[in-house]
Amino acid sequence: MKTYKGISVSPGIAEGKVFLFQEDKLSIPKYNIAITDVNNELSRFFAAVENAIGEINNLKVKYAHQMAEEEKKMLDSHILMLNDPVFKEDIGKKVEEKQLNVEWILLQVIENIIEKVNSSSDSYLKERSTDIHDVSQRVMRNLLLHERMSLADLDEEVIIIAHNLLPSDAISMNKKMVKGIAVDLGSKTSHTAIIAKSFAIPAVLGLSNLSQQIKPEDTIIVDGNQGVVIVNPDSATKKQYRSSQVKWQQHEKELQNLNRLKAETLDKRRIMLVANIEVTEEVASVIAHGADGIGLFRSEFLYMTPDSFPTEEEQLRTYKTVLEGMKGKSVTIRTLDLGGEKVMPGFNVSNEDNPILGWRAVRFCLAKPEIFKTQLRAMLRASVYGNLRIMFPMISGIEELLKTLDILDQLKKELSKAKIPFKKDIPVGVMIEVPSAALISEILAKKVDFFSIGTNDLIQYTIAVDRNNERIAYLYEPFHPGVLRLLKMIIDNAHEAGIPVGMCGEMAGDPFAAVVLLGLGLDQFSMSAYSIPEIKRIVRSVSMQEAKELAHTVMKMQFSQDIDDYVRDWMEAKFDLVSY
Ligand code: PEP
Ligand code: MG
Repeated sequence: MKTYKGISVSPGIAEGKVFLFQEDKLSIPKYNIAITDVNNELSRFFAAVENAIGEINNLKVKYAHQMAEEEKKMLDSHILMLNDPVFKEDIGKKVEEKQLNVEWILLQVIENIIEKVNSSSDSYLKERSTDIHDVSQRVMRNLLLHERMSLADLDEEVIIIAHNLLPSDAISMNKKMVKGIAVDLGSKTSHTAIIAKSFAIPAVLGLSNLSQQIKPEDTIIVDGNQGVVIVNPDSATKKQYRSSQVKWQQHEKELQNLNRLKAETLDKRRIMLVANIEVTEEVASVIAHGADGIGLFRSEFLYMTPDSFPTEEEQLRTYKTVLEGMKGKSVTIRTLDLGGEKVMPGFNVSNEDNPILGWRAVRFCLAKPEIFKTQLRAMLRASVYGNLRIMFPMISGIEELLKTLDILDQLKKELSKAKIPFKKDIPVGVMIEVPSAALISEILAKKVDFFSIGTNDLIQYTIAVDRNNERIAYLYEPFHPGVLRLLKMIIDNAHEAGIPVGMCGEMAGDPFAAVVLLGLGLDQFSMSAYSIPEIKRIVRSVSMQEAKELAHTVMKMQFSQDIDDYVRDWMEAKFDLVSY
């Protein structure tokens, strides 16, 4: 038996069989061939090239309606590379000369080309190395008859162990079969963590090198409450965990009794407790957990399942399903927040040195107006089916906001002209998740109907701490006095302008933060549906007076640790909190 400590990101306890999800690295064989086999080897290579070209052409057809000129050009350039006679001739000559298998020769030739390209002083040429790598991987996969491993096909209950689990892998996994998740990389606000929480899958991330220590025949306990993973537990440990699991399930059941009650403080201040969702399947759970609405629909997940770059009609259907499913309760759909760690398979958003600070979210959308407009048109058309609010992510300045609002206005005019129905009074808001937006929240507040604070990003940008990096996770402090000051500034500026302010980062669902946030004046808390009952229990047990006093006290403190200790003591004295 061995215990590993990581970061608890999704509560609950799971015990089960290991499923080792390996990274998609191709292992390239090297072997000698007879001179009589050279032709055969080259036929394999040409067939692989033809298949690769076929795949690219299929991509072009499938996504034709959505693809910007740049992407079309990129794919054409890939086909051009594959048809390059010099490249093919080179491979042919080397296979004959060295009498080695074609996979190995391809690897050498490509490494050689990439090295030359990288040492060039021409920056355009340098950028092509990713394309060369991409194209060669496609041919290599065809040569090795290798298909990308998919978690969608899981057909027995397992605990997923991985070095890294991309959000696109997490979203496409067969969630019914995934009992727990344990991953080497990642932290509390990684999107994989968020997805695990949405589907109530116990998960521990940031486990350093756990995946190298595990064998497929091992059994595992994932304790998402304590952030611990136990490999091959002895029988006493198993027994103890089974009883904790029963207690945990009882606690969850008791909380469900609150579902029909309002989130109202003892002195009758009504707080909106709404849910964050990634996919439509979550709507049933949102309703079941007594949410007042949906505060964040991360629409980019529609773009992240393989084979689905959604059309306007497809998006319309999805938004309609969510709006109708919520039966008139408010639904905030956030426009595409692609980029950073959220990349769409088969559609490289970009290859950047610093993607978290890069071409993300609204920046990407403004550079790709066709993609953006398709989404906004679908949202406007869906507005007639419920109570829609539209929200823009990663706004960093007023210019960006005005440009997005202009596009929205222009689309409204086009729809009116074409007599396509949409609601005229859809509230439009921005996420405040970039420090510059927080600092100019006074200006932004005059242009929109609501704010939603994205603490996952706001904290990472304010403290300069990568939200996915487990090594520096200790620096990721929601109670940093700098963060608390920004929160207060945003909330005060919103209220000054007469607009409501919510929060949709993970901090909003953290029971330890709930009373401080109430005291700072937050109007709406948006979180994983499973967290709603616990936050409701807290809201219903305090008065605004108490909450304001707590917030006032911590705002005077200088050290994050002091604030954390003080709030924990305060909360533990008042509530019987289950540690998450
Ligand atoms: C946030 O940044 O707090 C947020 C809610 O957005 P995301 O986690 O999708 O970046
Ligand atoms: Mg964000």
